[in-house]
Amino acid sequence: MNGSFIKGTTDIFGEMGHTVYREDGDICKCGNRGCLETFAGRSAIINKVKENLADNLGFFRKSFGSSFTFEDICSNAAEENKLALLVLRDAAKAIGDTIANVVNVLGITRVVLYGETVKAGTVLTDEIQNSIRKHCIYPLNQGSEIILSGLDVFASASGAAFFAIDKFFNT
Ligand SMILES: [Zn+2]
Repeated sequence: MNGSFIKGTTDIFGEMGHTVYREDGDICKCGNRGCLETFAGRSAIINKVKENLADNLGFFRKSFGSSFTFEDICSNAAEENKLALLVLRDAAKAIGDTIANVVNVLGITRVVLYGETVKAGTVLTDEIQNSIRKHCIYPLNQGSEIILSGLDVFASASGAAFFAIDKFFNT
């Protein structure tokens, strides 16, 4: 915020994936029920596609084969596969609604997304923009910049290093 890192009062904070999205959701690995992660995490998305494949008469089975990865779902979505798009849009809406709450609380105008889900690309960013337009108060609903991070798997470690460097030079 304002060019500085935010440090919570404990080492565990800012866990947006563990904010409650819907109370009637599944039990999360953190022990709560209905966390965002249970709706929009990689495993939740894969499981949702599996559930839908089990429920239909095999129309989409050819697209996914007997086993598939999250990346397969994203590539199917890029090819306009309806099941992949439906599941990814639902997950993206859950993420977008949660981000809209964060935007309302913090007044931020730029959101940088990092993690596996960014592979969903514009399906994700479009839904987040929709949620911000729909749920944020004026003028925050006029749109925020949504950026998909290009950082690699070491981003978290880099963030920790930057935090230490920032603390060194500012104390
Ligand atoms: Zn959780």
